[in-house]
Amino acid sequence: MKIEADKVVLFHYELSAEGSDYSESSRDGEPVACLIGHHNILPAVEAALLGREGGDELALTLQPGEGYGERRPNAIQRVPIKHLMSKKRLQAGMVVKVNTADGPRDATVIKVGKFNVDLDTNHPLAGKVLNFLISVVAVRDGTGEEVAHGHAHGAGGHHHH
Ligand code: ZN
Repeated sequence: MKIEADKVVLFHYELSAEGSDYSESSRDGEPVACLIGHHNILPAVEAALLGREGGDELALTLQPGEGYGERRPNAIQRVPIKHLMSKKRLQAGMVVKVNTADGPRDATVIKVGKFNVDLDTNHPLAGKVLNFLISVVAVRDGTGEEVAHGHAHGAGGHHHH
């Protein structure tokens, strides 16, 4: 079965960013389940998956504009430590969650003071060239309920019901 809109793809991925020690992988757990055609993954990744099938392996390089965007130089903010959602001891370089008008988002700690912390609110992968290795495990039809909700259910998908 080929990957197209309204199919659920189960896949493993490894992601690394050039010039960064950031990496993530799904290989320690279940494959990710993704409903295609509903804006659930980066558009460039989805475009590369279209027409592929179970057993296919893809290596993708994404420019920042296809990934998490360019870095915004004005994204450094000084915020009171008490506004941070993390209760962990803060250190420069650490990624923390902050509440913003757009909802919680990741920010990188630049400098820690007594009451305030300077945060870079760029996405940790903004401005980075991303390398994805993707292994397509399986492809199935999305159920009517999944298509109506716009996301995959079950193993590797949402568990909100
Ligand atoms: Zn749902």
